[in-house]
Formats: sequence, structure tokens, C-alpha cells
Amino acid sequence: MAENIVVGAGLAGLVAAINLVREGREVLVLERESRVGGSPLYHPSPEGTPVDLPRLADYTGIDISPAVARFGAGRAVIYGEMVPVDMNALSSVVIERGPRRTSLDSLLYGLAVEEGVKFEFNHPVISNDDTAKLPPDTIIATGLYFEGFDALRVPYLTSFHFVTRRKVPADTASHVTIYHGRFTSDYAYTCSVNGIQFAHVFQRRPIGKDTLHAFTEQAFVSEGIELDEWEHFTFPVPAAHVNNPRLFAGDKILAGTLAGCMESYMFFGMLGALVSGKIAAMAVEDKARAYQEFKLATSAFRSAYLMKKMGNMAPHWLHRLMLREGITRLSEYPAAAEVVKRAMPGWRNCERAGE
Ligand SMILES: Cc1cc2nc3c(=O)[nH]c(=O)nc-3n(C[C@H](O)[C@H](O)[C@H](O)COP(=O)(O)OP(=O)(O)OC[C@H]3O[C@@H](n4cnc5c(N)ncnc54)[C@H](O)[C@@H]3O)c2cc1C
Repeated sequence: MAENIVVGAGLAGLVAAINLVREGREVLVLERESRVGGSPLYHPSPEGTPVDLPRLADYTGIDISPAVARFGAGRAVIYGEMVPVDMNALSSVVIERGPRRTSLDSLLYGLAVEEGVKFEFNHPVISNDDTAKLPPDTIIATGLYFEGFDALRVPYLTSFHFVTRRKVPADTASHVTIYHGRFTSDYAYTCSVNGIQFAHVFQRRPIGKDTLHAFTEQAFVSEGIELDEWEHFTFPVPAAHVNNPRLFAGDKILAGTLAGCMESYMFFGMLGALVSGKIAAMAVEDKARAYQEFKLATSAFRSAYLMKKMGNMAPHWLHRLMLREGITRLSEYPAAAEVVKRAMPGWRNCERAGE
């Protein structure tokens, strides 16, 4: 039997591999790093997302709940003012990413090995030539790395990031504090889970020292935490234009962030990656059906993209008012929370899963 190849052992690649092997196929995953968990620059890190866990499990066939924690507390600091955020109204959870035993990547890898997926680590697939040599229907799921986007000519924007992480006692309650302010046209946050405290500031243009300094000061004033030892990196995000999402590149199948399954207002990408892994596996057998599912998964991309464009044009006072109203009224108006959830790539596929 011919082997199915998956490039990238991240969320989308692992979900695709598990689904393919369950259909009785031989599956080989090619991964650039020497283990799962992606780049040491990005991870380990806590990531948050709205998710309906039972429906996601129904849709993908994989229960991720052992790698999921509930948020102990959610807060937003909007132009200096702290307001509570009802994370339950958003069905939001926190998930560790990276190579540690407690991460979602490790959970999926363990399942994949158990099911018989084979792996080749230290095997980057970088160039156009490398990809062209792979058999038709190879699934490419290389995430937030420039090489994949460049090799397949998928348009992207560059986003600029500073992160810092440190250990805290393992029993520290998980939390997230989201910061909006004059210091970034996107946002920043602090977050903790499984004994890691993480801080992240980013925007879609270069970040100066003044920006970093302003956020560091705000985090100290709001939470009393001293942030230092920042690391800088950039990555490509599929937010170059409204028509970014694409399931196919020539005879190859795309999945995850490379396929555009990332919401472009907040850059939530985990749910989209998990759902698109299932869709990519479906595309090996039935391209027409997979394409319909993919369109449904990315149907809210356009509105999130336009909202971001409009938000960037709004003056700070209006932005502040909109955020404050939106965030504090989430629990008052369940319909507002529904709008946020429906903006997530893949949410509607999961909604239909139980039908
Ligand atoms: C610091 C940070 C914070 C984030 N926070 C959130 C958040 O709070 N909520 C949220 O929903 N999303 C968040 N995201 C986005 C989310 O992590 C991604 O959208 C998601 O991981 C994409 O999944 P994927 O399967 O497409 O790629 P990944 O999970 O990144 O996997 C890609 C895999 O491909 C491998 N690879 C890359 N290039 C090659 C190559 N050339 N050859 C072979 N293998 C290769 C990588 O090593 C990696 O293992 C965050 C991202 C970062 C970096």
C-alpha cells in the first residue's frame, strides 16, 4: 500500500495523520525538529481558545480534554483599566503547547504512535523542489514558518513578537490577562498553566523598545509582575487578504495555519488547525466533500478580517469604548459571546458534529 506523507508534526499534521491511519492507511510524518512541540522559540507556551470539547472530539475523532485546563481567572486591561472577562461565557480553555509531557502536542503524538503512525524527525521539507518531489495528496501542515508559505507561494503578513516565560509553582492557578492599549495595534497578554508563566506582546508591524517598555510597565502596575529577558521573533500569518484560506496547492493538500485556518482578529489558530487536520485527511479520499467542509471552517474569516481593518482605523477612544463594552457585556449578552465563538475557524463544523 502506498504511504501517505504528512509534513509537520503540529496540531493539524497530527490530527490528519491519526485520521488517515485509522482509515487503514500507512502514514509517515516528516518533522523538521528532533521531537514534537515545534520551535523552542515559540514553545513551551500556554495558548487559549474557545472550544466545545465534546463536539470537537465528535468531529475529529480525538478527545483533547486530557491536555486542557479551565482558566482560573480571566481579566482584560483596557487602556489601563482592569475588567473581568467571563472565560466560561466564551467556553475558553487554556492548553499547553510544546514538547513537555503536559502539552497537547505530546498528547496527540502519543495517540499517533499508539495508532501506528511513523515519524521521521530532523527531516525539514523546505524548498519548492523538496515539496514538488513529494507524492500527490501529501498533506503539508508546517504552521507559522516562513519556508512553507514561501515554497507554496501562500500570501502572508509578517507579525512581530516579544515573549518571555518563567517557571512558577505547578499548582499556580491558570489565568489570562489580555492587554489593549496605545502600545500595540494588536494586543498583549500574560497567561499561566502547568507551572509556566508566559507574557507575549505582538503586532503586525515592528515593535520598538518604547512599546515593550510601555507594556512591561502596564503589567507591573496591573498585576505586580516584573517581566524581563524578552525574546524576539517574527512569523508569517495568513492574514494578507480576505481570500487567504486554501485547501489545495497544486496536487498537495494544505492544513492548519498554512491553509489559512487562523482567525485574523486575535490570531486564534489552534481550533482551526485541529479541525483542518480532519478536513485534510478527508481530502485524500473525497476532495469535493472536504472542500465544502473547508469552506464552512473558514466562513467567518472574511468578517474577522474586515473587523480588524475597521478596528485599526478607529481612534483610540472609540477602540477603548468598543472593547470595554464588548468584553464586560459578554456574560450579560450571551449573543455577543456566540458571535466571538462563531468567528473561530472550524467552530461551525464542530457545531454540526453532534447532528
Ligand atoms: C507564541 C504563540 C502564541 C499563540 N497563542 C495562541 C492562542 O492563544 N490561541 C490560539 O488559538 N492560537 C495561538 N497561536 C497560534 C497557534 O499556535 C497556531 O495557529 C497553531 O499551532 C497552528 O497549528 P499548525 O498545525 O498549523 O502548526 P504547528 O502546530 O505550529 O505545527 C507545525 C509543525 O511543522 C513543523 N515544521 C515547520 N516547518 C517545517 C518544514 N519545513 N519541514 C518539516 N516540518 C516543519 C514544526 O516544527 C511544527 O512541529 C499562538 C502561536 C504562537 C507561536
